[in-house]
Amino acid sequence: MIAVTGATGNMGRLVIEHLLERGVPAEQISALVRDPNQAHDLADRGIDVRHADYAQPNTLQPALRDVEKLLLISGSEVGRRLPQHRNVIDAAKYADVGLLVYTSILHADTSMMASAEEHIATERYIVESGLPHLIMRNGWYMENYTGNLNQVVESGTIYGAAGKGRVAAAARNDYAEAAAVLLTEDHGVDKVFELCGDEPFTYDELAAQIGKVAGTDVVYQNMDPDAYSEALTQAGLPLPMAAMLTDVDEGIARGDLDSNATDLVDLLHRPTMSLHDLIRGALA
Ligand code: NDP
Repeated sequence: MIAVTGATGNMGRLVIEHLLERGVPAEQISALVRDPNQAHDLADRGIDVRHADYAQPNTLQPALRDVEKLLLISGSEVGRRLPQHRNVIDAAKYADVGLLVYTSILHADTSMMASAEEHIATERYIVESGLPHLIMRNGWYMENYTGNLNQVVESGTIYGAAGKGRVAAAARNDYAEAAAVLLTEDHGVDKVFELCGDEPFTYDELAAQIGKVAGTDVVYQNMDPDAYSEALTQAGLPLPMAAMLTDVDEGIARGDLDSNATDLVDLLHRPTMSLHDLIRGALA
């Protein structure tokens, strides 16, 4: 049995699609979900849906029964993730899972981004658990830049605080496919994969690419981090979200989300999806 946590999330759903595409029978896939009511579509397709809340250890041991390989998709409740991940790892240890795959962040061991702290602490806990594991240090999702493209095209401006820093982002689907590869092929154990897109770009290049696809002028306006954070809160974002987005851009300016690693391309045996194609799809 292959189990995927966060299976009602964007990444979890894509991983399950790739497992099915790779020939894993639906009844051999467990979708571990916080709310089974959101997973009726998965159950209808024959997937074994199990309740598993990272914050409720009593749900985790039964959810991991007969699981040989587990993908732990990092949680979305920033600040609460380490104890939640520990609960899952403890349950995996109890269930004697044969392989634990975890979605971490690019350069988790050297990144100074605030969100990297929970990831590196989770990685260390996994290593200490003694479980056979693979760490996917995922770079930034390109989709982080295509959520409000129409608004960007209309205004003609992208704002940020990333300076001339490069971000080696990849499409979420590429990371998901890589997870399915690691769960279905033998790539050894106790390894770290630095996963990222093969065409890193600056925000100037991002703006130019959006403009090119949309047939209009789009420019990047770099801001001082404090001014950017204030602009985000004035635009209605909650303070923690504004702080997080600013921290990410400062990380990009430092190079925390840049890399020339080829691990993702090597696992996929193809180039990663291009920014151009993702923008074209999002604007279509
Ligand atoms: P989503 O927000 O779509 O999915 C997160 C999943 O985690 C959801 O299914 C959610 O459950 C589940 N989850 C959250 N808390 C718990 C919990 N306590 N117990 C069980 N499940 C829980 O994010 P994505 O799928 O797009 O991304 C996956 C992860 O990647 C994120 O959670 C985050 O850690 C990280 N991330 C990475 C980014 C990047 O650019 N590399 C950007 C943003 C996040 P439910 O469906 O019930 O809400």
